[in-house]
Parts: sequence; C-alpha cells; structure tokens
Amino acid sequence: MIIVMNPQASKEELQRVIDRITEAHCKVHLSEGQVRTIIGVIGEKKMIAELPVEAMDGVEKVVAVTESYKLVTREFKQEGTVVDVGGVLVGGDNIVTMAGPCAVESREQLLESARLVKEGGAQFLRGGAYKPRTSPYAFQGLEEKGLEFLAEARAKTGLKIVTEVIDAQSVPTVADCADVLQVGARNMQNFQLLKAVGRINKPVLLKRGMAATLNEWLNAAEYIMNEGNYNVILCERGIRTFEDYTRNTLDLSAVAAVKTISHLPVIVDPSHGTGVWQLVRPMARAAIATGADGLMIEVHPNPAIALSDGKQSLTPKKFSLLMNDVAAIAGVMGRKLA
Ligand code: PEP
Ligand code: MN
Repeated sequence: MIIVMNPQASKEELQRVIDRITEAHCKVHLSEGQVRTIIGVIGEKKMIAELPVEAMDGVEKVVAVTESYKLVTREFKQEGTVVDVGGVLVGGDNIVTMAGPCAVESREQLLESARLVKEGGAQFLRGGAYKPRTSPYAFQGLEEKGLEFLAEARAKTGLKIVTEVIDAQSVPTVADCADVLQVGARNMQNFQLLKAVGRINKPVLLKRGMAATLNEWLNAAEYIMNEGNYNVILCERGIRTFEDYTRNTLDLSAVAAVKTISHLPVIVDPSHGTGVWQLVRPMARAAIATGADGLMIEVHPNPAIALSDGKQSLTPKKFSLLMNDVAAIAGVMGRKLA
C-alpha cells in the first residue's frame, strides 16, 4: 500500500501516520518528493488492509499497489531517482559512462585501461576482480589483489569504481573498495546477495538476468530497496533468445518500459548485450536515443589478448569514437555527458 500525504501535511501529521503503521507491525519506506511525501507500507496483507489511515489528518489518498514490487514504482516516487556516486550523478539530465576491461588482469593492464577510458570521457572504471565464468577452467579473476589495483586506479585517475560482487560473504570486502557494487546477470535472483547489498551504504548496479522478465528484474531491485538501500541503478545487458548471431539480444524496449514503471536510473551494456565489438557502437547510440541514463562499455588496451570477453571489447580509440556519437545524441535528447 502507498499513502500519499497532502502537500500541506505537517510533520506531526506525518509522524502520527508513521506511528500508526509501525504499531501495526508494518514497515515504513519514506519517499520525500519535491511536492509531497509518499509512504510505502510493507507488511502482511491483512494488517495493511485493516490499517485505518485513510481518514487521518494529512492523508490525501491511499493507493493499493497490486504489483509484487512497490518501492521501485513511480507510484512510490514520481521523480526519477538520481544516484549520487561521490559527486557523479547517475540519472536526471546526466549521461554517465562506465568503461574498462571485463576483468582486472594485472596492475599494468588496469592502470593503462583506466588512463585510456578517462581520456575517452568515462566517469567510471569497470573491471571484475571476481569473475563468474561459465567454465571452471576459465580465468576466475584476481580477487582481492584485483580490488587493490582498482583502488590504485581510482587514486591515480579520480575515476569511480564499479566492480562485481558474486556472493553475500564478500560484500564487505568489495564494498570497501567499490564506489558502486555490481550484481551480475547470473546473480540477479541470488536473494541472499540482494539482501546483503541492500544493507550497505553504497550504490548497487543491478544487471538484468539473462532470462529475467521485467517483473523479475524489478522485484530483484525491490529486494535491495526493501532492506533500506534506495541507490539502485538498473542495467539492461541483453537476454537469451533464439537468435545466436549475437551473444544476447539487447532489449532496448525494456529500457523504455522500465522508465515508465520505475523511477530508478537505467543504463545499457551493449558489450554483453551483443557480444560483438562491431555492434557495440550502434547499439550504444540507440540506447541513448531510447532514454538510457548511461552506458557500460568493455574497453581493453589490446582486446586480442584479453583474458575474457575480448571479442566484445573496444580498443580505446574505438571507445573515443563511440563517445563522440554519444555526446551528439545526448544533445538531441536534451541531456549532457557527466
Ligand atoms: C560483466 O559485466 O563483466 C559481466 C559478467 O556481466 P553480466 O553479469 O551482464 O554477464
Ligand atoms: Mn564481460
């Protein structure tokens, strides 16, 4: 249930409504918008149904949300969420770019990548220290050493760090280094992990599962928000379809759809979305034209020798060309590069 407070409601009236909800053992989520405050009520259906809040002073209306997710919706929060990553804003008028290698492979490879993607116009350095690989014999990542290199790259370039966390127990270790914690496609419904990142005070980038519906994806975001972490960035990265020319089918209609349902910022990863470097630039253009809030792009100093995802990685030079296109399309869309 969502309670919409009157724009003129006083602090005391708001508090009385909150007290009434907590007395009924329901959980309160506050959304304080520019015009009005909205209260999301989470709890047992029966308890909520019997809450006599409609007639309370300061309450404008009560809306029953029939969807299984609530906090991610525009009913709960009308204005688009802007996630502040240490001064870099994700959402609003901004277009952000997260770029870097699939995996942190060595100190030299990472520092070189950081320097080059910064030159190309990225605000975030991406790179996996923990890699969820299809084959157990494939490179699994440098783990804690990789996190150290990421922290060094941040210190040297000022880029924000986005890196993947693959299980609940390593959340504190990854959160120590990362500015944004990435939950990967393979873990989108790892509910213990979602709850764990929901309890920390760092933004989370939630990738869409490779066979997840919008409903499942938004419910995964709801898990994080329900634990109190509202700083969630969604990332469309392609889904499995019958088409096998590309690695995945980049679902840009999902971006437009999610923008209508949810207030959360959405970025697009055309690298995993296509699996083919030649397709990354055109799909990046399309993503910005669709209304995405940013891009995640795999860039490697030398894709031919990358330990993972070389085929979909751009050279730094090609990344610069992509960024020129993105700047032009951002302008048409009334947006600016962060
Ligand atoms: C990645 O970003 O390198 C990655 C593994 O992505 P996904 O979870 O989308 O496959
Ligand atoms: Mn990758």
